[in-house]
Amino acid sequence: MKIKEILKSSEPHISFEIFPPKTDAGFDSVMKATEAIADLHPSYISVTYGAGGGTSKNTVKIASRIKHELGVTSLAHLTCVSSTKETVHKVIDELKEQGIENILALRGDIPQDSDFPLPDHYRYASELIEDIKGQGDFCIGAACYPEGHVETEHKNDDIINLKHKVDCGVDFLTTQMFFDNSILYNFLYRIREKGITVPVIPGIMPVTSGSQIKRIGFLSGTALPERFRAVVDRFGDDKEAMQQAGIAYATDQIIDLFANGINHVHVYSMNKPEVAAAIMNNLSKIVKV
Ligand code: FAD
Repeated sequence: MKIKEILKSSEPHISFEIFPPKTDAGFDSVMKATEAIADLHPSYISVTYGAGGGTSKNTVKIASRIKHELGVTSLAHLTCVSSTKETVHKVIDELKEQGIENILALRGDIPQDSDFPLPDHYRYASELIEDIKGQGDFCIGAACYPEGHVETEHKNDDIINLKHKVDCGVDFLTTQMFFDNSILYNFLYRIREKGITVPVIPGIMPVTSGSQIKRIGFLSGTALPERFRAVVDRFGDDKEAMQQAGIAYATDQIIDLFANGINHVHVYSMNKPEVAAAIMNNLSKIVKV
């Protein structure tokens, strides 16, 4: 099913995310986690794509299995920063052959030691989106950044770039993680004002370890509210306590989003079915599966 159809529902929905194994040796354990997450009946499962190519070949395979064997709608991520246009076209062909209808079209992070953009490469996700549109009847998603993308100094410029990207053929947006819902509400206000009208799916990350939060802060420049810092300071060194507190914090964010009229939330479940299950359990009377 196309995700833009799922997003027409006015009932609360949850989707989850899987990342492919770094080596083929990890494939079975990732599939096991995927099966357990599929058993929770999410509205869809997304499968990330390794920008460097390492894990990318498994994205199509896992997305195809989610759809055809597990009976859940799948969303295949596709990044273009480290591949030639020709290689990317081949992946789009594979997705079409496998009957994958939904693609999250991304540029990917620019590798530190490379000249960018190289000839025959895409420069921005918007260029990839135009090509995907020309290659088939896909439902296309793209990324957005409520706190602004790290490369763009001014948030307004980022929104202008986002408007252009959406106009190239985006059906829905998924946000970078955030830990303060007022950041999302403010962002929605600003993008709607600029004429970006497609559905926006908030991305929520349940933080389950202290080290995870250090990594997130470093990678994405995400602001950590005082309330959240206090949770990590108190429980970050106790694995089980942090997991419980992180799930509770994410659940609280999700309930607030639903209460404020959002109908779909994407959870960065990081191949952890127990975390996904705990969230679904916390929402068992709210998200009807
Ligand atoms: P773009 O939309 O191309 O934007 C990149 C930067 O360029 C922004 O600063 C933007 O403002 C600027 N820009 C865009 N267009 C123009 C223009 N015309 N002129 C000037 N500046 C412009 N990474 C992975 O490797 N694999 C994944 O599976 C993956 N999944 C993700 C899922 C989500 C929901 C999110 C939020 C991110 C994901 N990422 C993933 C990370 C993403 O690839 C990086 O954040 C990357 O740096 C930007 O990708 P983009 O598609 O947003 O790029």
